[in-house]
This record gives sequence, structure tokens and C-alpha cells, in this order.
Amino acid sequence: MILIWGEAPLATKLLYLYDSYLKEFEAKVESISGNAAILDQSAFHPLTGGVGCDLGWLAKGDVRFRVVRVEIDRATKIVSHLLETEPTGLNQGDTVKGMIDWDRRYCLMRLHTAAHLIAAVMYKDYSALITGGQVDVDQAKLDFNLPRTDREVFEDAVKKANEEAAKKVELKIYFLSREAALKVPGVVKLAERMPPEEQELRIVEIPGIDLQADGGPHVKNTGEIGNIQLLRIENKGKNQRRLYFKTA
Ligand SMILES: [Zn+2]
Repeated sequence: MILIWGEAPLATKLLYLYDSYLKEFEAKVESISGNAAILDQSAFHPLTGGVGCDLGWLAKGDVRFRVVRVEIDRATKIVSHLLETEPTGLNQGDTVKGMIDWDRRYCLMRLHTAAHLIAAVMYKDYSALITGGQVDVDQAKLDFNLPRTDREVFEDAVKKANEEAAKKVELKIYFLSREAALKVPGVVKLAERMPPEEQELRIVEIPGIDLQADGGPHVKNTGEIGNIQLLRIENKGKNQRRLYFKTA
């Protein structure tokens, strides 16, 4: 929910796109509406792209306001920081310090990178395409198009994903123009799915394993993921299998 009076603010600069390890940042308050704060830039990851949102605090001097939910308006690219209460004393033009709940964020990052590893193995070894997914703080789920229902397939995929993680591969995150991205094998199908107005694509590459256009926070090295554990598998209908997993 975003309510704006007067001049519409510009899209929020998304700091986590450039640095997933940024825990604190300074920003200018663009507007306050009820309990929603809009800033000129933010390291808070909003609820988008199948990855849960960050929680944390905005501080003005000694006064802290708890961030309980973060949303992004897909059309305007404006991020709303929903606060626990209406932020008395916080006004347009103020400078605030944003602080991410890092324990939560780091869990999301580890699970998100783990999800890319599992999806890559499922595609490579079982030709299973991912049809959906959600990374939450305590567990993640991935939906696959797969005719087989046997648990062994997923046990094998998780085992192989753990083997890849143990190789401690450094991730590469970079931006490519849409034109350049379309020339990279493997990105093409994803790039074509991106809205045409996206002129620049953020590429998340786990060298030798996976390469995707992706807007979420990730760990720097697969060695940070820890041990991926299969929680359960659900049969969601014809050829639809859902895998739940966590990291420890
Ligand atoms: Zn992703």
C-alpha cells in the first residue's frame, strides 16, 4: 500500500542489488503516509521475487521505529517500509539510518543461494523446470514440473547441491544490458521473460553451476550455505512436485 500526496517520489534506489552484505545505510525520507515510510534509497529487500522481506529498524537520532514489512510497487519501483506504529516525529526530508535484521537476512540469503543450486541440479540431471518457489526465513519451497514422485530424486538433488556448496564457489553478480544478456547462453529464456522496459539485467552466476537474471540477495560463496536438509515433498497434482528444505 502506497499513498502519495504532492509530487510523486522517484523509484527507490535498491542498495541490496549492489551489496547483499550492507547491514546499515543512510537515506532521506521522501514521504510518510500512515505507518509507511518511503526513502530515496534502501538496503531493505522487499517481499518480491519469491524471497521474503527484510525486517529491522529505521532510526532518527536515538528514536527507533521497527520495520515490520517491506513492499515494492512493481510499476513505480517504490519501496514502502511499513512500521510497527505511525512514526511520530519522522518527517519528509529527514535523514534516517536503516538497520537490517541481519540474522534473518542472512538466513534468507543462504536459503536463496541453496535454492539456485537445487534448481540447477534438478534441471541438469532430471530435466525438471522450476514453476514456482518461496524462500522464507526458516524454510524454502520449490515447485518443479516433474512426472516422477519418488523421494530418491529429491534426496539425490539435495545431496548433489550439498556437494556443489562444499566446493566453496564464489558467486558473480553483475549487470548486463538487455542486448548483451540475450547473447549469453542460458540467460536467453529468462531475459525474454523479463518485461521489455528492463534495459539492464542483474545476473547472478554460480560459475559452472547456474546463471540467472535475478534480483534477490545472495551469499558471496556457496561455502556459506551450510548443510541443505530435505524437509518434505508434496505431490501438487499432475507433474507438480513441491520440495521443502532448510539449511543448518
Ligand atoms: Zn533467485
